Amino acid sequence: MEQTCEVIIDIAHANVDRLYSYLVPEGMNVFAGSHVLVPFGNGNRQREGFVIRVHDAQETPDANETDASIVVLKPLLRVIEPYPILTPEQIDLAYWMQKSYFCLLVDALRLMIPAQLRGSKVKEKIERTVQLSDPEAVEAQLASLLDKSGKPRAPKQYEVLETLKTCGLEMAVSDVLAYVPDAQSAISALVKRGYLVEGGHVTFRRPNISALTADKQVTLNDSQKSAVDAIAKAMEAKSGTLLLHGVTGSGKTEVYMHAIERCLAAGRQAIMLVPEISLTPQTVGLFQERFSDGIAVLHSRLSAGERFDEWRRIRLGKARVAVGARSAVFAPMQNVGLIIVDEEHEGSYQSETVPRYGALEVASYRAKQFGAPMLLGSATPSLLSYYRALSGRYQLLELPSRVQNRPLPVVEVIDMRQEFQAGNNGIFSGKLAQYLSECLEKGQQAMLFINRRGYSTFVSCRNCGHVVLCDDCDISMTYHKGENRLRCHFCGSVKPQPTVCPACGKPFIKYFGVGTEQVEEALHELFPKAVTLRMDTDTIRTKDTMQQMLGAFARGEAQFLVGTQMIAKGHDFPNVTLVGVVAADATLLIPDYRSTERTFQLLTQVAGRAGRDENPGKVVIQTYTPAHPAIRYAREHDYKSFYFYELEQRKKAIFPPFSLFVRILFSSDDESSLYTGVSAYAEQLKLALDERLGSEGAKDILLYSASPAPIKRKHRAYRYQILIKLLRTARLSSAIQTIYTFAADHRSELFAMVEVNPQDML
Ligand code: ADP
Ligand code: ZN
Repeated sequence: MEQTCEVIIDIAHANVDRLYSYLVPEGMNVFAGSHVLVPFGNGNRQREGFVIRVHDAQETPDANETDASIVVLKPLLRVIEPYPILTPEQIDLAYWMQKSYFCLLVDALRLMIPAQLRGSKVKEKIERTVQLSDPEAVEAQLASLLDKSGKPRAPKQYEVLETLKTCGLEMAVSDVLAYVPDAQSAISALVKRGYLVEGGHVTFRRPNISALTADKQVTLNDSQKSAVDAIAKAMEAKSGTLLLHGVTGSGKTEVYMHAIERCLAAGRQAIMLVPEISLTPQTVGLFQERFSDGIAVLHSRLSAGERFDEWRRIRLGKARVAVGARSAVFAPMQNVGLIIVDEEHEGSYQSETVPRYGALEVASYRAKQFGAPMLLGSATPSLLSYYRALSGRYQLLELPSRVQNRPLPVVEVIDMRQEFQAGNNGIFSGKLAQYLSECLEKGQQAMLFINRRGYSTFVSCRNCGHVVLCDDCDISMTYHKGENRLRCHFCGSVKPQPTVCPACGKPFIKYFGVGTEQVEEALHELFPKAVTLRMDTDTIRTKDTMQQMLGAFARGEAQFLVGTQMIAKGHDFPNVTLVGVVAADATLLIPDYRSTERTFQLLTQVAGRAGRDENPGKVVIQTYTPAHPAIRYAREHDYKSFYFYELEQRKKAIFPPFSLFVRILFSSDDESSLYTGVSAYAEQLKLALDERLGSEGAKDILLYSASPAPIKRKHRAYRYQILIKLLRTARLSSAIQTIYTFAADHRSELFAMVEVNPQDML
């Protein structure tokens, strides 16, 4: 029977972001979700597209959604992959995202498949094999390769044939070559002779995962058990959101793994999201050990082939657990029974590129699609999640203490002002230096956390006060001692290290602000014999360096590990007994209403790395503001008091979760046209909002401002923003919709983007 189908063309442009009808040629197998090649436009250029629906010919497609002007349908050219690359649930999800984030449908669809699949940039890997053509005849064949004196005439061929005889099975050519090097032509010759036959089958390229520590079989304690039971109940009920609040080292990962086991036992699949940063070989290795090839891993350090194959292993049902960063929420599963989001408070779950989706929101939608519960876990839940848990929207599960009643580490807060007054202007306080030295003596390990990479965070002239800024961005440049030059952390541009002030010409250049490089150097000066590893984006460049470095530290090849956020989370090193936070104020000073919350979270997480095994841990926090609540409550490991304190602050200032920010960011190289453009835009948008919300609803707009962004220039472009703060009421979604619709109708050269609840407001 003749079929037609509706296709969305793989071009990200608003003008073509709709369905086009095509004829399905006789005998072509096309399904909803198929990846196809179509003739497109007047020139009939070949384009890739995704089939959204297939119709039998007598059904007329919905005239609103297809191009009515196309009367004679063009036929599809061919189907690219034999199986539909999109599942029905993914197509439904893309439509939901289009509505919720006002993005292009094609942009949403692109998230669901590996980028390299488009344009066929990556193919399946076929493993070539050979086997004996006739095992019974192999002795005679071997003999035929000998000369009169009984020596092989072609030694390589002889060796290859003998290898296959010994093996007795089909062998991968790559394995044969491992036994008999450089035997390519010998193999071909044997095939020609008819002694060997060639074969081949698809293999899956898998990331190289090695567990750093052996999988321990543990017996769950009572809190863990009741958490797993509650999750299992929710799985039976096929709904619900649960928040697992467990202190660091309380065994949350064990709870996740047991819950996943139950999910698999019920014949369903599981998705587990973790922040990219904690997708360490350690975490992945643990899951790999527990679920072996049943898991697929998705993260940014995979090669294109690995990513494609891991995705296909899920799509083809070979992997039943997907572990990955934010984008793994789109894993092509069809029978999801549980979605877990570890470290749910992490900002990295919010996408910073179009479409700007929130992985938690997407996870929640997918969970409902499949009738699966969603499990959020953290030692420091976001205020919003905890607020929802206390108000009964989420079910709260608690792991109040560390496993085997190990104590939480003792946290000492050091006032660096007093250190300075006492004559110490070094990086380390007296206490921290002393503890570091004791740690070395006992043969234990320490981790030192500093939020900044590089050597000094800014360079300034003591004569005139000039600060060296990036030429293209509105921020100070960081001194990198290793490369002996200044670097901009936004655009990456570099400048030579100045010897005199670029402004006044005097030689009074001084370096301020401590970065990871300087901590590493200070450690080396203090403890010349100890080995220090430094982990930041400067030292972790390739896909394997992180694994190598963590492996070396786990094996005790270094005593100290210095690093940025990268070392703050997830790691479980039993021999680490000391954690030092070199400068706790760095994150507090960021002008953002969340900086107190973020600092508390970071300090709690970092502190949680200490004393996770038998030896008790110590934490030293160095700060200039020891009385700050973020520091005070982190010292006491008191999440709840912190929560009530911070919630009160948010309530007073009507900040989220009581309100919501929308930011529209504009940028242009020309500041004066930017200024006029943004002012006019702001005025019109305000009119549109007032009209939609009415006089009562207009009161929901608590703040409406148009001004330069806090960082006014980035990558040469000037940046202005409209910042809107909206009260959380029933009218909220119509306000957001008005903003999105307005933005879609007023695309201009200036327009950059709308961000709802932006993670970064700089
Ligand atoms: P969290 O993620 O809550 O910080 P982990 O899940 O990393 O904690 O667990 C910390 C350590 O405790 C791990 O080494 C883990 O193997 C171990 N562990 C977890 N549960 C138990 C248990 N019930 N008994 C003994 N050890 C456990
Ligand atoms: Zn720059």
